Amino acid sequence: MRGGISLGRERFCIECGRTEHEVKLTSKMLCVDCFLRKYPLYEVKNRRMKVKLCPMCHSYAVRRNFARGRGLSFSEAIKALVEDSVNKMVKLPFYSKITIVDFKAPENFVKNRFLIPVVVETKHVEEDVAESFTLEIEVYAEKCPLCKRKEKGVSEAIIQIRKERGKLSYEEREKIIDLLRGLAEKSRDPKAYIANVEATGGGVDVWIGSLKFAEMAARVLRKRFNGSMKIFRTFGGLNKSGKHVLTASILIKIP
Ligand SMILES: [Zn+2]
Ligand SMILES: [Zn+2]
Repeated sequence: MRGGISLGRERFCIECGRTEHEVKLTSKMLCVDCFLRKYPLYEVKNRRMKVKLCPMCHSYAVRRNFARGRGLSFSEAIKALVEDSVNKMVKLPFYSKITIVDFKAPENFVKNRFLIPVVVETKHVEEDVAESFTLEIEVYAEKCPLCKRKEKGVSEAIIQIRKERGKLSYEEREKIIDLLRGLAEKSRDPKAYIANVEATGGGVDVWIGSLKFAEMAARVLRKRFNGSMKIFRTFGGLNKSGKHVLTASILIKIP
């Protein structure tokens, strides 16, 4: 029965007094507006955030360092970057959870700077209360320190491969370089790259980005070609933080 008599028993919002005929009531006897005022679902720390993305390896820096994304495809990196950024931009109380509803990003590096609008929804974990809003991520193309290093051809080790007697054949040289390239591709060490290859009179010199990787790869080479190996470790120049860099030259002789 509706009407004058039942009106007295009608439930109403304990804050603003509106009845459940006018507004939806939550279990706390509050209308949605009053509920959200009392229990906000989120706090936005930044509506817009700048993120750097390396155009070469797709690692990205949400705060300071290029820490994640290396080796991902462009679209995978964008997806991860959006998730990480949203988590940094919004603070959630324990009773709330966030979902990324939609975002618009280019398919590739069409520009050196682009904007990703992100629509997110925050939802109360128990009550049927939700709120959506939009955040913006400003993406800048910037080479990460590792790619810059790679471009400059910085290396920590040189592997010199020689024959016991005579000269390395063209086929032997190609086999050695293929093996090193394969190992570098499979390695998880981001510095495991071949910085330079130089054919010398009788052999080949290969400059490697990572000392650790170079020593591992040299052991594989030695085994594969049944050769001998000598490692000479030296302290090279100074790095950016003024520390001496340990470098090595590795000599492999194959029969
Ligand atoms: Zn109310
Ligand atoms: Zn990079």
